[in-house]
Amino acid sequence: MEECLFCKMVAGEIEPQCVYEDEQVLAFRDINPQAPTHVLIIPKQHLSTINDLDHEHEQLVGRLYIAAQKIAATEGLADSGYRTVMNCNADAGQTVFHIHLHLLGGRRLGWPPG
Ligand code: C5P
Repeated sequence: MEECLFCKMVAGEIEPQCVYEDEQVLAFRDINPQAPTHVLIIPKQHLSTINDLDHEHEQLVGRLYIAAQKIAATEGLADSGYRTVMNCNADAGQTVFHIHLHLLGGRRLGWPPG
């Protein structure tokens, strides 16, 4: 996993703009934000795509969403609304192969996504 960008963030070799951290989860602002709030929420454990998830990861995936809820509240988005999305592989546009939950908010988001 030495070449994984997000693992380097977890290891402290690259310092993103962190907004949340616990024992299993790190969250930081996206370097190319698509909305006023655009945060990436990642497990510290390396998992490349959603396809790598198994039942042993149920609690971990839940933690990503609880982190999203907390961050959304901190960002003032709880009532206005926000979106979480996790892309998987090429057709969804996944570019970093360490799973990450996008948290987007602060503007009216279009649907369906492009
Ligand atoms: O879902 P996807 O893999 O396309 O998302 C990767 C995200 O990681 C992009 O939104 C990109 O802007 C972000 N990124 C980042 N910091 C980097 C490299 C990519 O926040 N150094």
